[in-house]
Amino acid sequence: MRESSDEIQDGFVWNGFDYDLQVWVSDGVIMPCAHPNWMRSSGKMCCLVYHLAGRLIKEVEGAKRRQSALAIQSTIAE
Ligand SMILES: [Zn+2]
Repeated sequence: MRESSDEIQDGFVWNGFDYDLQVWVSDGVIMPCAHPNWMRSSGKMCCLVYHLAGRLIKEVEGAKRRQSALAIQSTIAE
């Protein structure tokens, strides 16, 4: 089981889960949600993630900027 193994690049989640946006990120790209198509009928979107899917995490406003795991650990140690 992986723990706190999210990969961070320039303060953004590069591979892992962004808790502010509630999206999974793979190589800096936001993964699509898993909602079925029927939830996106008559111009309605199922969720925010559907809009964000395929975009670069760096270009999305509100993305969480995080310290690297190493930086967080050193902060805790102080
Ligand atoms: Zn959705």
